[in-house]
Amino acid sequence: MAAADRIDGKAFAAGLREKVGEFAVSFEAVSGRKAGLAVVLVGEDPASQVYVRSKGKACAAANMESFEYKLADNTLREDLLALIAQLNADDAVDGILVQLPLPDHLDEQEVIASIDPDKDVDGFHVINAGRLSVGQTGFVPCTPLGCMMLLTDRLGDLSGLEAVVIGRSNIVGKPMAQLLVDANATVTIAHSRTADLQSVVKRADIVVAAVGRPEMIGKDWLKDGATVIDVGINRLPPEPGKEKGRLVGDVDFGGASEVAGAITPVPGGVGPMTIAVLLRNTMVAAHRNAGVALAEGAL
Ligand code: NDP
Repeated sequence: MAAADRIDGKAFAAGLREKVGEFAVSFEAVSGRKAGLAVVLVGEDPASQVYVRSKGKACAAANMESFEYKLADNTLREDLLALIAQLNADDAVDGILVQLPLPDHLDEQEVIASIDPDKDVDGFHVINAGRLSVGQTGFVPCTPLGCMMLLTDRLGDLSGLEAVVIGRSNIVGKPMAQLLVDANATVTIAHSRTADLQSVVKRADIVVAAVGRPEMIGKDWLKDGATVIDVGINRLPPEPGKEKGRLVGDVDFGGASEVAGAITPVPGGVGPMTIAVLLRNTMVAAHRNAGVALAEGAL
């Protein structure tokens, strides 16, 4: 079979960010203020610092305001909850994102639950998880929503397709499966206890890999022509003479490309979609919070 098409998440994400930027301009003209995202970072985790910086930059590039709160590693629970209460009440803040992971002394579930669900642009609050599961309007976690955008762009109608999601986390696997069911795919959720995972994956027209194991899924696992969305981000050990190892996904990109119909690369596939969808969710929140109309599906 010919080499798979490469699903260019980077280009798709750039297009989405540009569109959000246009909506941001019209939002400001109508509401008299910029849409705003508050990002809270607790501690010094270097990867989290990079993510927070890039979220701030992406906001500015999309004509949106970003408010960054960098708190010390030993921040008290009460102080973090007080900051979130203040952001919940602040009309300039449309979206609130608490960068995870939090230091061990803070309870992530409690912190997420303290965010106003209508400002929970990460879609992690139980209210938003519940809304997704019963089909109500809410916020959907950014990574699975980004995967869904790539899938519908590539395949159009997903009705009747066999989809296998590998991974059942609350932030990727479960919401991903829910979105696929809502799009009329027939969905299997696989995980570390799934028996004979390879043959489960082999029957899928759509494979979404969200595991965190480098290049676990080889070409022998895939059905001819499958569409493969690789969420995994794994850093390999450095090669001799190199400071850092290569980033790879959960799928062996080279091998899978010989069999799949289309596949997302790592990097440059799902990763860039996550921030673009975060901006999109914040723009949607801004319209809802300010009572400015936004046509269904416009973003
Ligand atoms: P979690 O660690 O929360 O979940 C991993 C899932 O994979 C679990 O459900 C686990 O099963 C399953 N799993 C682990 N080992 C196996 C195995 N051998 N066979 C089958 N299933 C297995 O991870 P996340 O969902 O948070 O993230 C998954 C990956 O996606 C990571 O690489 C992460 O870095 C990446 N990621 C990328 C994002 C992006 O923007 N591109 C955003 C978020 C995550 P069980 O439940 O049984 O333990």
